[in-house]
Amino acid sequence: MSSPGQVEIAIIGGGLSGLSLAEALAETAAPPSVLVLEAAPVGSLPDHTWCFWETDDAVPRDRVSQRWPRWQVGAVGKQIRPHCPRHPYARVSARLFLSAALEQIGQAPSIRIWNDARVETLREDGDGVWMETADGRRVNARWVFDSRPPRASPVPWRQIFCGFTVRTREPVFDPEEAVLMDFREAGKGGIRFFYTLPTNHSTALVEDTWLVPAGAPAPSFPPDDARRYVETRWGATLREIAEVERGDLPMGLPAPCVKGRCLPWGSAAGAIRPSSGYALTRIRRASRRMAEHWERTRRPAMPLHHSPWWMRWMDGVFLRVMARHPERMPALFAAMFARTPPESLARFLDSNPRPTDVLRIMRALPTGLFLKHVLVR
Ligand SMILES: Cc1cc2nc3c(=O)[nH]c(=O)nc-3n(C[C@H](O)[C@H](O)[C@H](O)COP(=O)(O)OP(=O)(O)OC[C@H]3O[C@@H](n4cnc5c(N)ncnc54)[C@H](O)[C@@H]3O)c2cc1C
Repeated sequence: MSSPGQVEIAIIGGGLSGLSLAEALAETAAPPSVLVLEAAPVGSLPDHTWCFWETDDAVPRDRVSQRWPRWQVGAVGKQIRPHCPRHPYARVSARLFLSAALEQIGQAPSIRIWNDARVETLREDGDGVWMETADGRRVNARWVFDSRPPRASPVPWRQIFCGFTVRTREPVFDPEEAVLMDFREAGKGGIRFFYTLPTNHSTALVEDTWLVPAGAPAPSFPPDDARRYVETRWGATLREIAEVERGDLPMGLPAPCVKGRCLPWGSAAGAIRPSSGYALTRIRRASRRMAEHWERTRRPAMPLHHSPWWMRWMDGVFLRVMARHPERMPALFAAMFARTPPESLARFLDSNPRPTDVLRIMRALPTGLFLKHVLVR
């Protein structure tokens, strides 16, 4: 039993991974006592677009705000346009997603949330962990899941992007087709592509995305670049930029070393896929697995991995190829999208592949190049 100042599980951070875990625990037959400590009021952070390939029910279907059955990749003078109604590319609004999670969590009286609770100190003591917030609240937990952003640690690559929600005068976008990568603006000092997610014929999220190697300076994102892109690629006049969102995601974060009762969680635990920057469905599946394990054993599952060893190994080889041959990446992505059956591609990109999907991906890519980087470090 727990007293008010004591819980079985504390979750630091009420963002995607913190609330996904709390929600999965709320859905178990006998939810444990849980406290979520969030530095800001939960759900108050700026809204984001989170996208993924819908290959299972990791994200409840009623939280999806839009789906694109067709995708496009533009590279080396070609446009590849897979069509995959079975596993469409899908989008959720972070704010709506988190408020739906909060509603589910509210069904479990043993799960509480502290807003404005910035955790400042953590101290392991016997079979528990003491936490203190900036405003002096104290709590003891048997286990802590810590989803604060990973501390600055060296990563081989970063994915840095700026998304502009644009409205155009002319109806130029196709709301059925997401342009996942358009490499025509390839730049120096990193790999650059534009990403266009149409909401309707004249509104889209246009993201200027860079994959930047360690040590390279961060790109800047003048809105004029987005304007020029809308004009040249889409042949449209920009009416307005309604919103801007930015991201800087680590790619290839080293696996955290887990000791004691305080476990990293979410991005801090390697949820962001090293080769792509996607994390949403990985976090959802990891939360469900963790809650199922807790239900069976009343202990967290360890070690924490978001993908099996062979996928981590493949991602590592991919990052090495990218480091040695950044100029070849547009052609490699084009080959992968052109030669892999779309359903296999979607499951692979969603970190949810079948063995045959992996074989198809390997067949689509130049074997010699990848084999060389299996051996070369
Ligand atoms: C702009 C953007 C777009 C993205 N788009 C996608 C996408 O399309 N698809 C995809 O799969 N992934 C996407 N990602 C990557 C990933 O899904 C998100 O970063 C996701 O939010 C990671 O979840 P998290 O719980 O690890 O971190 P967060 O959601 O950032 O949650 C961490 C929480 O910890 C809180 N916190 C921090 N310090 C403390 C403290 N001391 N005490 C208490 N609380 C604290 C923060 O306030 C925050 O709420 C995107 C990321 C960004 C930034």
